[in-house]
Amino acid sequence: MKEAPRRWAAGAAAAALLVTASPAASAHPGTPAPFPKVPVMTGYGGAVSSVDPDATRIGLEVLRRGGNAVDAAVATAAALGVTEPYSAGIGGGGYFVYYDARSRTVRTIDGRETAPARMTETAFIDPATGKPLPFDQGVNSGLSVGVPGTPATWARALREWGTIPLRQALDPAAELAARGFVVDETFRAQTAANQTRFDDIVPTRDLFLPGGQPPVVGSTFRNPDLARTYREMGRNGVDWLYKGPLGREVVQTVKAPPVAPDADRVFRPGLMETGDLAAYRVLDQKPTRIDYRGLSIYGMAPSSSGGTTVGEALNILETVDLRGMDQTTATHYYLEASRLAFADRNRYVGDPKFVDVPQRGLLSDGFAKERACLIDPAKAAVSPIAPGDPAPPYQGCPAATGIGDAEPYEGLSTTHLVTADRWGNVVAYNLTIEQTGGSAITVPGRGFLLNNELTDFSFAPANPAVPDPNLPAPGKRPRSSMSPTIVLQDGKPLIAVGSPGGATIITTVLQVLTGRLDRGLGLPDAVAAARLSQRNGAATEVEPGVPAELRAALIARGHVLRENPEIGAATALEFLTRNRIQAVAEPTRRGGGSAGVVWPG
Ligand code: GLU
Repeated sequence: MKEAPRRWAAGAAAAALLVTASPAASAHPGTPAPFPKVPVMTGYGGAVSSVDPDATRIGLEVLRRGGNAVDAAVATAAALGVTEPYSAGIGGGGYFVYYDARSRTVRTIDGRETAPARMTETAFIDPATGKPLPFDQGVNSGLSVGVPGTPATWARALREWGTIPLRQALDPAAELAARGFVVDETFRAQTAANQTRFDDIVPTRDLFLPGGQPPVVGSTFRNPDLARTYREMGRNGVDWLYKGPLGREVVQTVKAPPVAPDADRVFRPGLMETGDLAAYRVLDQKPTRIDYRGLSIYGMAPSSSGGTTVGEALNILETVDLRGMDQTTATHYYLEASRLAFADRNRYVGDPKFVDVPQRGLLSDGFAKERACLIDPAKAAVSPIAPGDPAPPYQGCPAATGIGDAEPYEGLSTTHLVTADRWGNVVAYNLTIEQTGGSAITVPGRGFLLNNELTDFSFAPANPAVPDPNLPAPGKRPRSSMSPTIVLQDGKPLIAVGSPGGATIITTVLQVLTGRLDRGLGLPDAVAAARLSQRNGAATEVEPGVPAELRAALIARGHVLRENPEIGAATALEFLTRNRIQAVAEPTRRGGGSAGVVWPG
């Protein structure tokens, strides 16, 4: 079902520039025609795809004014901080993957939130019980708030590869925050789902529950505090946060969350100090790379598990001919490859500064062959299956001997965007505040929510007999699943793709890639296709659109299926022949996304 698009409440002179498709809803009297919210657009001169039409429009305007893909990505991300404040914003972190056309290299920025220096392995153990805190008590607390990495990511990306200053990249989003956007059903429903915890924090209640209730669909939502915050950050630079007054306010808020007197929950104080902000650095990480059927697939290295897990699963799938298989067998292999890759991810991937991640082994063809030979074409494995040993030598088909871990829980929020410019530069960028609504703590007077990313750490080892690479530690980055991915063909970009969805991000990216590269689907159909997700859990999650015959055939091979109403919200783009670019977003998930190109045609 399509929803009314978000759009400028006023102004936006440039909004008409791309109106080639009919808007999904009629304009309010006195407002300009809304930017069309379409899931697919093909044309020239650059492209943007995001979950939100205002954000996509702002990115396209930057491109039209001569900005490059990096400028557009930062401007789009800042706009998402306005219209998707429960998934993205300067209170969070993320991973930025960039193809630089001039040097023909893929570069990445790890802008993951980081644990404060005072955080130890037992930070999420309740001293009163000696047991891990209930998950929601971890989320709704200052303890869950990691040092934000998003402002530093924007500054680094612009400084290294962009052409405009931070102020210019933030300006359109500041204007959007000041003028407001029209509330759609997704925003209302996300607010309603968070209502009781938002109601516990005074500045969150004041901002997101006007009159004590979620904003009404069709009303205009303004965030003047965020507009001022963006403008001040544009003027002062990001050290205003990392070394300055905004940082002191963030620390004060984390240490003493502004809880309402009538709050239903206790928000534990967090551990962040101003020194943690001053010590924060984004990391220039080498991307992961695998070769897949003649293409090069680049992804995000640890601290995200995205690149290694998507890469390992693709390496496993490369050992079989997915093209020649019937739908059931191809789906079975996709699920089993993902199951195996997740067993290894859960056992081995954490922040590489703290744990020895066997990245080379996880991404080697020899290890993939060992893992692939465990797949029974006729029968699903029973999870949790044990991890393999990614160290060489690889010797055929070793039986797994270890203990499999139960699947750790991860929140489902986040957003992903892609941009490309006329020079052939490409960005795939995932940013997040973790859960939808993050920690629920808004910095007073600043208009943005703080993340709860540190709940991506294991609160305690899933199995005390098995080492857990993802326990908290001072200065450590919690393991992520974010998988912004760029595919090159003969050294030139072919596809960029990514998604939100916690650990399902990995399976969404994997399914879109195999759909496009192996199963004969165009990119729009590969994105729209009904999703299945197997993450070394007892059940495989399936969306309602998975056909009955396929379900029955999978069950006959031993798969246990569990409904999941919606998996992921992908954005993607593909370079077609004759310099055309196809921007792709979701037709329906999360109310549908927004794809645009600079010159449609
Ligand atoms: N915290 C998750 C991760 O880093 C992202 C949250 C989500 O996408 O839902 O993988």
